[in-house]
Amino acid sequence: MNLDTICIQGGWQPKNGEPRVLPIVQSTTFKYDSTAEMAALFDLEKAGYFYSRLQNPTCDTVAAKITALEGGVAGMLTSSGQAANFFAVFNLANAGDHVISSSALYGGTSNLFTVTMRKMGIEFTLLDPDSDEQTINAAFRPNTKCVFGETLSNPSLHVLDLEKWARCAHGHGVPFIVDNTFPTPINCRPFDFGVDIVTHSTTKYMDGHATQVGGAIVDSGNFDWMAHKDTFPGLTTPDDSYHGLVYCERFGKGGYITKCVAQMMRDLGCSHAPMNAFLLNLGLETLHLRVPRHCSNALRVAEFLESSPDVAWVNYPGLRSSPQYERAQKYMPAGTSGVISFGLKGGRDRAIRFMDSLRFVAIATHVADARSCILHPASHTHRQLTDEQLAAAGVPPDLIRLSVGIESSDDILADIQQALAVR
Ligand SMILES: *Cc1c(COP(=O)(O)O)cnc(C)c1O
Repeated sequence: MNLDTICIQGGWQPKNGEPRVLPIVQSTTFKYDSTAEMAALFDLEKAGYFYSRLQNPTCDTVAAKITALEGGVAGMLTSSGQAANFFAVFNLANAGDHVISSSALYGGTSNLFTVTMRKMGIEFTLLDPDSDEQTINAAFRPNTKCVFGETLSNPSLHVLDLEKWARCAHGHGVPFIVDNTFPTPINCRPFDFGVDIVTHSTTKYMDGHATQVGGAIVDSGNFDWMAHKDTFPGLTTPDDSYHGLVYCERFGKGGYITKCVAQMMRDLGCSHAPMNAFLLNLGLETLHLRVPRHCSNALRVAEFLESSPDVAWVNYPGLRSSPQYERAQKYMPAGTSGVISFGLKGGRDRAIRFMDSLRFVAIATHVADARSCILHPASHTHRQLTDEQLAAAGVPPDLIRLSVGIESSDDILADIQQALAVR
């Protein structure tokens, strides 16, 4: 099926007499007739539901749709994008291990890696996303377990050279994990470029209406864990907490996700709520219509900003003048996302005056939903930093992040124009 059809028909496929629309199974537990049946589920000998912290039919059905959209073999939902990235890495790396990541990361992910997971004993090397292969290869250590990056980074909008990073990871016998939140599978299919595992904050475009916080992990099934048995003992040797089960022997290509559910969800929670999965599914049903509209609106706004004498600079990889244009055409030919960053002449003060003058483009700590919204990191998410610290973090004090919605582009442009006219 084409992606447009999967957005609507993927996941829930009702049998004769079943509800047309995905049902919300709002139940923590599931009933069985015999102790033996329940025991088989607990031992992972049989597939089935017993407690919604581990698995729930509504959540699993939506995970199946996202898995199909990415072209993977197995997937799962999590309570947030943060949980998805944490689980995706922690499912492979333990205390004493090492991970290589692109430094062009969402702030929450950077904090997760360099503060919280470091406290858990996992070391991260963050590299400039445009590092050459020699530099990336030199960062590997005997205890490196995976490589991580964002296809289109939030908020710096860097387009990652997926094939280059995948080559480096595979050359060292480890998988390449990417966060594909901003382009979504409508604009970028990372598995086509050698990526092994994809994560999402479904809170953003996938939901698209800002109604639920959620995350997803999808495995391509392409990484051969058994060929690197010693690097990934968690997947290739017996798990004592499941009577000596070996995930990749028992579940084959489903081993990575099964371990993530059986261990991470069992022990750490972070499960998605069935009601939220239902809302996410409604969003997914129009993803293929919304994403192109976000992109065409954003391109029009970016072209206007680029031509405006009030604007100092614009970063939008879909602009022909962008140094990233060629790479964006390779990895995201249909468009990048609705997010633009730019700076006004007059710096921080002008940015604040401009934003306070906007009428319906709202000031909100959110991106990637149907409503246009705007954020000034130096005044909001990064306000504790000095101008020098902002520069080091790649967030200039004048940077404005605009998430272009799917309203009329005429109206969005008119609002921006009237706010620029306020002096
Ligand atoms: C928002 C975001 C996250 C975190 O997701 P939450 O759902 O807010 O936990 C992770 N990665 C990227 C690229 C994001 O934009």
